[in-house]
Amino acid sequence: MSNIIKLLPDSVANQIAAGEVVQRPASAVKELLENAIDAGANQITVIIKDAGRTLIQVIDNGKGMSEIDARMSFERHATSKITDASDLFKLTTKGFRGEALASIAAVAQVELKTKLHSNSTGTLIEIDNSTIRRQEPCQTADGTSVAVKNLFFNVPARRNFLKEDSTELKHIIEEFERIVIAHADIGFKFYSNTTEIFNLSPTNLFQRILGVFGNSNKDKYVALDENTPAVKISGYVGKPDAAKKRGPEQYFFVNNRYFKHPYLNHAVTKAYEGLIAQDQRPSYFIFLEVPSDKIDVNVHPTKTEIKFEEDKVIYALLHSAVKRGLGKNNLGPSLDFNIESSFEITAPEDKIYYSPSIKVDPNFNPFKSDHNHYNSEQNGYKSNHKAVKNEDWQALYEIYKDAPNLKDPENKVNIEIEQHIAIEELVQVNERYILQKTKDGLLFIAQQRAHEKILFEHYKYVMEHVNNSSQRLLFPISIELSTKDLLLINDLNQDLKKLGFEIENFGGNTTVIHAIPADLTEYDPQQILEGTLENYKLHSIDNQDTKNERLAYSLAKQSAIKVGRKLSKEEMGQIVVELFKLDNNKYTASGKTIYFMMHYDEIEINFKRK
Ligand code: ADP
Ligand code: MG
Repeated sequence: MSNIIKLLPDSVANQIAAGEVVQRPASAVKELLENAIDAGANQITVIIKDAGRTLIQVIDNGKGMSEIDARMSFERHATSKITDASDLFKLTTKGFRGEALASIAAVAQVELKTKLHSNSTGTLIEIDNSTIRRQEPCQTADGTSVAVKNLFFNVPARRNFLKEDSTELKHIIEEFERIVIAHADIGFKFYSNTTEIFNLSPTNLFQRILGVFGNSNKDKYVALDENTPAVKISGYVGKPDAAKKRGPEQYFFVNNRYFKHPYLNHAVTKAYEGLIAQDQRPSYFIFLEVPSDKIDVNVHPTKTEIKFEEDKVIYALLHSAVKRGLGKNNLGPSLDFNIESSFEITAPEDKIYYSPSIKVDPNFNPFKSDHNHYNSEQNGYKSNHKAVKNEDWQALYEIYKDAPNLKDPENKVNIEIEQHIAIEELVQVNERYILQKTKDGLLFIAQQRAHEKILFEHYKYVMEHVNNSSQRLLFPISIELSTKDLLLINDLNQDLKKLGFEIENFGGNTTVIHAIPADLTEYDPQQILEGTLENYKLHSIDNQDTKNERLAYSLAKQSAIKVGRKLSKEEMGQIVVELFKLDNNKYTASGKTIYFMMHYDEIEINFKRK
């Protein structure tokens, strides 16, 4: 047999790497901005045309590059920022992988102009498809300008999956905002199709926040300032009355690098307990400083995830710092820095109680023991939709929406659930919702929406942090897909993997499923995959959803228990407990109400009516 393994040409390898680094115009903007900052620029201009489709240009006055460095900068794994692996633990720069320029040049036409301050002429390089087209001396200002033209011109699948301009521009602006907030001392300008969108002079953090989010915010924040050996915490948190139901500004930075962290977000949100309504969320701009060997920024190519060595300590300190910040300003009860509140649950022994916790279990599956989905006698998978149609249920739900208690803003509901749930008191009504008695009234929880929300948060979390565990199929299943679905699967393959799917292209339109998420082994693999893709195409959560969120939502929608499904007490208990563990549990990802309360005094009023 002849040998068949060969090395991929650089241009192909770069294009594959580019899939990780450059997912959309916003990722290119982020990389170029970070390079400009790493080069020590104090003035940076961003020029965008057609939401980055035709042009993304970043001009900086940083240190520039020599002729040789300019050429080298497009090589893969070429970086001036680290030299060996130990440097990974003392990073002071934004970039370090040496992949960005190589990746961008693999999927766009790039024009680089750069000049060292000490030189009188600079260097011009034109490169596309990883091939140098032109390199010559040129006249240019001190610093660097990188123009990225016709992004994905040679990767139609990527180009076709870009969303409409307004969405792509929103993503770009989101990345831009994260960077300008972290670097208030740098001046930034931003143009979109020749319109000036931002013109930010170098300033302090607070003025920068106002510059980006508007002057109307000037009385809405209090400052944080805590200095402990483990972490230095600074920045601003929103006053409780400025909390929002939707779209609060929530920004975490560690060592001036933006990151997302549901666990630490919980620490902040928890500090507002009792100060804001259940469904409201605070805004914050929180800066953490930790020794660079105490974090690992190396966990994800797009680098918004950060692993802290001491995340529990940071959780506690952050929670206390926010409480103190609010307390100092008389906005809430102050808390002694050394005393952490703990739950006190006194459980009578004859009842089953669930205690609250903030831990997310990556293998969580509320219905592990449930075999209703599979019915071997009928030689197939039972549909989750029983006789009751979704629409009927919706209609019924609408009636309750008009019940007297809901005429008032639902926010006054103050539900004390997490503390203890006696599961034998839970009742399922019409196989549609769960009725739960609470201190103040009757709580109606829509079972399907609740479960969908729990799964959404779970899948989102695993995609961002741990990867879901996967179950290999004894007999791989091959399925035929439309070309469009095939492109979609190719595009999503890495993300589906994070969810626990293992899918292989088998040539033509055939795709083979080798593994599925371990928590979904009772489902028909084909149905779960096709349903998820279908949801992905049809339902975006909103214009700002990320790929992860949208995929998590699509799978959650597909796998959630449906209306019409009979639930055991245990299952109801799980749903209620898991739901109220979430920070934001009032609405589904797509904004539908998950539960409402009918207060006892409102029930009483109905009996008093003549
Ligand atoms: P990384 O930032 O991870 O090192 P990049 O591919 O983004 O990798 O850049 C490669 C190298 O090119 C950088 O290490 C830096 O030396 C140089 N470089 C890139 N952009 C600029 C810039 N705007 N100014 C100066 N040097 C730059
Ligand atoms: Mg870089």
